Amino acid sequence: MNEAFDDYAHASLVVAHDGDHAFDAVVPPIVQSSLFTFRTFEEMAATYRGEKSRPVYSRTTNPTTRAFEQKIAELECTEDAIGFASGMGAISSTVLAFVEPGDRIVCVEHVYPDAYRLFETLLKRWNVDTVYVDGKDHDAVARALPGARLFYMESPTSWMMEAHDVRALAALARGHGVITVIDNSCASPVFQQPIRLGVDLVVHSASKYISGHSDVVAGVAAGRRELIDVVRKTITPYLGAKLAPFEAWLLLRGLRTLPTRMKAHEASCLTIARRLKELAVVTAVYHPGLGNQLPPGMSGTSGLFSFAFDESIDIPAFCNALRLFKLGVSWGGHESLVVPALVSRAQNAGPNSAIDFGVSERIVRLHVGLEGADVLWADIAQAIGKAGG
Ligand SMILES: *Cc1c(COP(=O)(O)O)cnc(C)c1O
Repeated sequence: MNEAFDDYAHASLVVAHDGDHAFDAVVPPIVQSSLFTFRTFEEMAATYRGEKSRPVYSRTTNPTTRAFEQKIAELECTEDAIGFASGMGAISSTVLAFVEPGDRIVCVEHVYPDAYRLFETLLKRWNVDTVYVDGKDHDAVARALPGARLFYMESPTSWMMEAHDVRALAALARGHGVITVIDNSCASPVFQQPIRLGVDLVVHSASKYISGHSDVVAGVAAGRRELIDVVRKTITPYLGAKLAPFEAWLLLRGLRTLPTRMKAHEASCLTIARRLKELAVVTAVYHPGLGNQLPPGMSGTSGLFSFAFDESIDIPAFCNALRLFKLGVSWGGHESLVVPALVSRAQNAGPNSAIDFGVSERIVRLHVGLEGADVLWADIAQAIGKAGG
């Protein structure tokens, strides 16, 4: 297979789910059932003994959820996947499946803030320590890896949008026998398939691009069957953060347009990021597709990026003046969004005030939606005018 998302993979998303559906429906049904009954004692007993594989209870398996899991496994070029009730459900369940008290995690800087807080709060209580390294500094990564249990990556990273050489980092971890996990929410499986770059496990917030419509909170983890089986057998039955059938059905619908949406987000976002870079009031643009070449195995960028204003711009006034970009967290849907780092830092000053993920207060993050680059640019330009620029 070539590096880029190929036409066959695209086509397989758009056509109906492979396999037999009730009434030959082009869209798989929502099997909205908590449990599945058996015709005979023998069938039930064989299923419980593990000799027969079929749905029993939707906390473990549901046909609609399974259809989504199979599609993700295919898209991520791997064997198996598990759907979760949220991206954080996927992240916490996957990490907890592989660490034990006394273990050390190596984590790249600027991961999703709640992943960071998971490491700094809950995992610390279980005596799992996390050290943070600059994912661009391969020597620092190589020094941190010996003796670690797990290497947690995210590329591009949250807020700073750093794109790492995932293939090189995965090879370093493999050399030290360290399990690798990557959050691939931002690039999506359209632009990056980390398993093909040597990573062991991929996690997603499916609430973002995989859904694409801002109407689902969900997650998924994918990888080799033996690794996914560890998560499925040792964690999901007890933490129970399983993806529900209706959400799985919405995600299957979202996947149909994923490649088309990603290309549209990428094009509009690049246009806006380049125009911002030319402005005197903008001191930095954090976008993996500006300047440097993308790292090996990454074939495109998304609608998400950040930039920094100089002191002449009143950031609250800028946010208030925007009309198409709405103030809101999350990203990956059809709509354009703005989040100032000022607000995220205020949130961090709550119960976790010691936690600071190191983002400057001059930074603003934008998600460029599907409205069209020119109309979005006009919105940004008028808002800068009202904010002092
Ligand atoms: C949103 C997000 C998550 C968490 O996903 P939820 O579905 O909100 O739990 C994880 N990683 C990244 C990069 C995210 O943006």
